[in-house]
Amino acid sequence: MDILERDDLSFPTSLPDFQKLFPDDAACAAYLEKVRWEHGFTCPHCGVVGEPFRISTRPGVLRCRKCRKEARLTVGTVMERSRVPLSTWFWGAYLITSQTPGMSATQFQRQLGLSRYETAYGLLHKLRSAMVRPDQDRIGGHEGEHVEVNETLVGGQTRGEGRGKRHKVVVSCAVEVRHRQPGTAQDNRKDGHYAGRLRLSVQHDRTASSLCGFVEATVAKGTLIVTDDWKGYSALKDMGYDHHAVAECGNPEIADEFLPISHAVFSNLKTWLKGTHHGVSPQHMQAYLNEFTFRFNKRYYPMNAFISLLGLAAHAEAPTYADLYSGEWEHPTYCR
Ligand SMILES: [Zn+2]
Repeated sequence: MDILERDDLSFPTSLPDFQKLFPDDAACAAYLEKVRWEHGFTCPHCGVVGEPFRISTRPGVLRCRKCRKEARLTVGTVMERSRVPLSTWFWGAYLITSQTPGMSATQFQRQLGLSRYETAYGLLHKLRSAMVRPDQDRIGGHEGEHVEVNETLVGGQTRGEGRGKRHKVVVSCAVEVRHRQPGTAQDNRKDGHYAGRLRLSVQHDRTASSLCGFVEATVAKGTLIVTDDWKGYSALKDMGYDHHAVAECGNPEIADEFLPISHAVFSNLKTWLKGTHHGVSPQHMQAYLNEFTFRFNKRYYPMNAFISLLGLAAHAEAPTYADLYSGEWEHPTYCR
């Protein structure tokens, strides 16, 4: 099944709903325990399998019944060695993944009811670091599907400096174009075409070495690539791609017809950069492109975004939202 077609997968749409799922540190700890030991606690010190001691005042720690040593639930996650309560981390990750792109540390502090600005800033910075790390794997490579490659100028205005071309940067885009099954509920827009995975990158210029270098780094060989007829892309065929150049002649309507997905991506990107961040300087642009890409690629599965932000993505068996919602996993009991 293609998860991008599952429009019906629900996720809490408000922070209060989310807080009902994770009402306190104990609920968050129970989730972390399930993520790490799907089939029950295994002591990392002596290897014994079986129920550990749980201490209600220290929900982030389990104690082995045999060797009596402690195991921390946050090891290897973004929460490791933090004094901030687990529930604050969980609620913060939810806020960032759900409705508020580019939230400021001040807004974050207010929403989470934190007394110190520095705590809010540190939390926000750590959670965002998962978003600004670029995805490394190549997109494309699917039989019968193509990838649109395109480039645009972004920026030109930073706060207090007025307009100027010196701030404009070339941004390259590669995006998978998928096809919905005809006759399904999703087959209702753009001839059934929709965007799969996205990659965005800042380029030095619009030369062949920059543009084709970007394609080589982000798209699997053998993929059908659709671009406009700019000569910077003409080397793609010799590089092992199936290349189709649309004769555009500078006509934006034709471009919109043959490269509709990348045009929509650029339009959304520019709105996001302008509206949320009031312009971004060239040296920070790639980090913002990475955040935009992270949000775009995870737009249909916010639970995955949430898990990535908390640093739990390495655990492939993280319980899904459906698991939580159906109550199929039990919260463990605590000692006093
Ligand atoms: Zn042990």
